[in-house]
Amino acid sequence: MPSITSKLPLVGTTIFTTMSVLAAETGAVNLGQGFPDFDCDPELLELIQLALTSEKNQYAPMGGVPVLCEAIAQQVASLYGGRYAPASEVTITAGATQALFTAISCLVQPGDEVILFEPVYDSYEPAIRLNGGIPVYSRLRAPDYRPDWDEVRSLITPRTRAIIINSPHNPTARLLTRSDLEALSAILKNTDIFLISDEVYEHIVYDGQRHESVCRYPDLAERAFVISSFGKTFHVTGWKIAYCLAPKALMQEFRKAHQFMVFCVHAPSQYALAEYLGQQHHLALAQFYQDKRDLFLWSTQGSGLHWLPSEGTYFVSGSYAGIPEYAHLSDREFAELLTRKIGVACIPLSAFYHDGFDERVVRFCFAKKDSTVISAAERLKKLWR
Ligand code: PMP
Repeated sequence: MPSITSKLPLVGTTIFTTMSVLAAETGAVNLGQGFPDFDCDPELLELIQLALTSEKNQYAPMGGVPVLCEAIAQQVASLYGGRYAPASEVTITAGATQALFTAISCLVQPGDEVILFEPVYDSYEPAIRLNGGIPVYSRLRAPDYRPDWDEVRSLITPRTRAIIINSPHNPTARLLTRSDLEALSAILKNTDIFLISDEVYEHIVYDGQRHESVCRYPDLAERAFVISSFGKTFHVTGWKIAYCLAPKALMQEFRKAHQFMVFCVHAPSQYALAEYLGQQHHLALAQFYQDKRDLFLWSTQGSGLHWLPSEGTYFVSGSYAGIPEYAHLSDREFAELLTRKIGVACIPLSAFYHDGFDERVVRFCFAKKDSTVISAAERLKKLWR
């Protein structure tokens, strides 16, 4: 058998798999990986059932079924004022993961640099590397995780091809503000640098704050691929249906790659989502998850974990640096101990830094039934005893 030379020699089993396996082995409550432990709205299931029995089972058009592209364009226009032509500037993808991979593939040439903010979602770097690009990191630090725009400016070189932003941000649960986007806009002005904006948690923003979509900022939108995912919005992470928005010239290149990666994605789900999207369910999503966040924070009082602000997403990070018994442990050791001894699985934030930078912070996912949240909280309170 010929031996294969890995293009991703440093990629192994992800921490998400490791922690989920450990949670299953030990019977821990799994607040590690980010997905709901409850089902989606039965109405959405009825809609897909209807699509499946209405002869909607052949290839969808390459860019997506027109009714869904139109519903998305309408929603983006009404929420953010951004105008995208459904037929040429909206593409339905197999999850945000594929949209990110496709956008990176059509931009990045060998030797190009892409600026990332770490802690960083784990799919960006391998996608850059597989295309011969070089990730360049700007580090966000606890407890604020604010971007340092002067540092970003200093990281730009003639080889910088793109910057990837993510707000609401996984794993820190922080938001980019208007002034962040204005600072970014000033940096990118008169450059040939593209922007990829991962907005998969766009509807999960708390405490009355506003999601600063790139679609609100014409100066940024003209050079941007904006990506969102129905998995997060409608509690169907397993469906892997998402979309990308971009101006026509960028989308043409995106589609050249898209058509040879997947050509098109699951048609019946697209019809079901088109109908469901029109019903405005996304408007209730922020409150739904804010209630879960508050339940988790309230019921873990006294655990000794210091919670960092969760402004959006369905994550909250906690610092254990103030618990004398555990402060000396690395975040990976702490996450393992928490799973084995306390019975709650979480994700160490060092997993999101390329060099394992460790500030004694771990991430919990509260997209769970209230009973799961309460049971995890009861266990976490044992930490401090
Ligand atoms: N980006 C971020 C920030 C995410 O958290 C996720 C899902 N965990 C994705 C992209 C991928 O989304 P999808 O499941 O639609 O591929």
